[in-house]
Amino acid sequence: MDFEKAREEMIRYQIKGRGIRDKRVLSAMSSIPRDKFVLEGEKDNAYLDCPLPIGMSQTISQPFMVALMTQCLSLKGPETVLEVGTGSGYQAAILSKLAKMVYTIERFNALADRAGKIFKELEIKNVKIIVGDGSKGLEEYSPYDGIIVTAGSPEIPGSLIEQLNEKGRIVIPVGNSFSQDLLLGIKEKGKLKTVNHGGCVFVPLVGKYGW
Ligand code: SAH
Repeated sequence: MDFEKAREEMIRYQIKGRGIRDKRVLSAMSSIPRDKFVLEGEKDNAYLDCPLPIGMSQTISQPFMVALMTQCLSLKGPETVLEVGTGSGYQAAILSKLAKMVYTIERFNALADRAGKIFKELEIKNVKIIVGDGSKGLEEYSPYDGIIVTAGSPEIPGSLIEQLNEKGRIVIPVGNSFSQDLLLGIKEKGKLKTVNHGGCVFVPLVGKYGW
């Protein structure tokens, strides 16, 4: 299987073809090998237009969803970003190309360990993985310029809003445990202004401020 060709086609048809225009996002997605982040038996499916299983009943998001959520953060380079839900590590790897520092928190040790090994192999050095309940955010390294939650939440946890910088952006799927709306919130004068980017389906955020 020619992964590079599959990746180019993914960018052309699934990402650019559906209106993702941020050049930095397109270039990050061209440079990160998604095939490294999927399970051994799923390599040939790595560039398909869908989420894939990664173990522990969790999934790596559909490429378009990764692109859309990343574009929502409007990263320019100097930002500190928090990701809740490391999963395979793919989304964090994309963010590592677009921001200065990425903190990513995962509730399953096994997934955090696996992502850490892939980051090492790809020589990604500006991502720190933490094991814990990300529904509470990660106070230690806050405030963040961007927060991305890659699991569906019943509401936007107040702790995450608190840990966001003024003018900071949060992108999060909010709804029930079967379907959600992708919300982008921008913090202005301490309050969040939100825009709905449409329907989506994520695995549930499990934790104190999740399900
Ligand atoms: N961003 C991932 C996709 C993650 S799927 C990727 O690129 O592959 C959602 C992940 O969120 C799962 O791995 C799940 O274990 C994790 N998760 C769910 N609730 C969580 C919580 N409260 N804190 C941290 N991680 C959580």
